[in-house]
Amino acid sequence: MKTSWRGIMAEYAPFFGSPDPASIVTLQEGGTPLIPLDRIAREIPVPVSLHAKFEGANPTGSFKDRGMTLAVSRAAARGARALICASTGNTSASAAAYGVRAGLRVFVVIPDGKISRGKLAQAIVHHATVIQVEGLFDQALSIVREVASSHPIALVNSVNPDRLEGQRSVAFEIVDQMGSAPDYHFLPVGNAGNITASWAGYKAYRDAGRLTALPRMMGVQAEGAAPIVLGHVVEKPETLASAIRIGNPASWQGALAASRDSGGTIFSVSDEEILEAYHLLASREGVFCEPASAASLAGFLKKARSGAFSGGERIVLTLTGHGLKDPDAVFRTQTSEIRVPARKEEVLAVLGLT
Ligand SMILES: *Cc1c(COP(=O)(O)O)cnc(C)c1O
Repeated sequence: MKTSWRGIMAEYAPFFGSPDPASIVTLQEGGTPLIPLDRIAREIPVPVSLHAKFEGANPTGSFKDRGMTLAVSRAAARGARALICASTGNTSASAAAYGVRAGLRVFVVIPDGKISRGKLAQAIVHHATVIQVEGLFDQALSIVREVASSHPIALVNSVNPDRLEGQRSVAFEIVDQMGSAPDYHFLPVGNAGNITASWAGYKAYRDAGRLTALPRMMGVQAEGAAPIVLGHVVEKPETLASAIRIGNPASWQGALAASRDSGGTIFSVSDEEILEAYHLLASREGVFCEPASAASLAGFLKKARSGAFSGGERIVLTLTGHGLKDPDAVFRTQTSEIRVPARKEEVLAVLGLT
């Protein structure tokens, strides 16, 4: 059999100390495509090289799998019998899948009525116990933190350092795919684990002698859920980008350090800008991501339109999750169904070929 991609822990073994290869719990996550976005790049006034790291191509459809393989492998190796997480959706989908693979029970605590149907379907199909709390994500997270601290249940939210350690691998892959780091790396910021981990990944690769220049980390929040930009907790975060609807990010300090130390920034975009970017990716590039993911393109376009680039920059956008996670986001704004009688003439008429 041809040797195929073996998942991030095997592919980047020197960067992950434990556990031993035999006890890795993997769905062969990572190895995601770095897709050129030439048609969108042509729309901005200066020539740049623009690529999307399409994390929707991970086994459960989001980058969360990169951290989950480590977190679940180590929890299982330590003898855990169950996993728990609070989630806006993708963490629960990933925990549910990796949990069954490891033979563990999985409990997911989700905020009331705010989970997209694709993500909920994943948790259910993998037999996780799904508990909706009548409250917000931040409340769900504090509950599971307390539960995990006093019971033998492993917490697999991104407050678990194994998650962030695994999520560093996206930076390793980008450098391997490009031959160097990009000049700018844009990504959506919710709990801020991913920007913290991506930055740690670039630094680890530099320290291992695999790259010289580091990128500027450009974190993008949604205007209605932008605690880091505002400098204070947002009690009632609101945005259609549910995966970044977070009012009190767990990795707040890590995100600030990543943007400051890299010479980047953390800024916000409106829901309208996020939707524009979401539709651009789908209708111009054939790339279908979930709304939160499109925040990275929205952020790039905002910077590009305000003249931040002079030409020649190499830019990577993390597209964090697959569009199929949240099909309702499409139907809220678009319908395209055309019903006709089942006759060739009727179809030709629609095609304008009569
Ligand atoms: C989790 C998630 C985010 C936010 O990542 P953080 O590490 O919480 O900042 C963004 N987009 C998608 C699709 C996600 O699942």
